[in-house]
Amino acid sequence: MRKITKPKEDSKTVFLNCITDFSDQDLKTRLEQIASLIATSSQQFDNLIRENKLCLIERNKVYKATKEERIFGGLVTINEVKEVYTKGFAAKDSPGRVLYDEIILSAPYSKCPYCFHRNVGTMDHYLPKAYYPLLSVVPFNLVPSCIRCNTGELRASFPQQPSEEILHPYYDDVEKELWLRAEVKHTSPATINFFADPPEKWDSLLKDRVRNHFSILKLNELYSIEAALELINLEGQCQAQYNMGGAAAVKSHLEETAESRKVAFINSWQTALYSAIAIDNWFHNGGFVIPKK
Ligand SMILES: [Zn+2]
Repeated sequence: MRKITKPKEDSKTVFLNCITDFSDQDLKTRLEQIASLIATSSQQFDNLIRENKLCLIERNKVYKATKEERIFGGLVTINEVKEVYTKGFAAKDSPGRVLYDEIILSAPYSKCPYCFHRNVGTMDHYLPKAYYPLLSVVPFNLVPSCIRCNTGELRASFPQQPSEEILHPYYDDVEKELWLRAEVKHTSPATINFFADPPEKWDSLLKDRVRNHFSILKLNELYSIEAALELINLEGQCQAQYNMGGAAAVKSHLEETAESRKVAFINSWQTALYSAIAIDNWFHNGGFVIPKK
């Protein structure tokens, strides 16, 4: 997970900007009447997430009934609120699109901040708009994401307890200390297993959230596949080192690579991979060989 800069735009202003081009005057007026609710809900989100209490935010309980059902005192339907996002924020040439693009581009290297591997391809609602329509265009509920990490099947529709809140790239910073590790399985070819191993001194809730983030987003599955490909590419280098200086040369080469990776990104899957193979004697002594089919 990579921390990225939290958008500074005011939520109510963003919401009102999104509806400026709406031609249905009646709808526009009704939406303007819930603008203060947007501000309140946005503030509530910003306060509660800092305390890991998002489960306390009231969600839209009529979602399962009908998308046409009126909410917020009968002022608007769920669909009408959600369309502020689709038509006023995400649509090309809509008033909100400038901010949409800014948020998408805020992810360094265009990498998804949740998995820090796949490319950003969509906008994720940290709390989904179906259950939290008031947060549909709240900037800090919107996170640039890869399509897979945004997929509903991976994530709970709403957190029911603090440990279910996956890491939020605007609020959580877990990049200062090592928590992503890997181990080498002595199979043929070698396989790499990744796991979250937060520092002992972290509070237990943050440890649980990091482990849940890793598990819910199936990051071991993602990183293991990438590591398998990396090992194929690495075989030639390891063999060359081995031919020159035996297992010690392989170890030394891998230690240097691991250190370089660690300096770049302490919790990347590459750092975890190279750190694991750098200390595995079995790997240095020929475990790097990929059996030919
Ligand atoms: Zn991702």
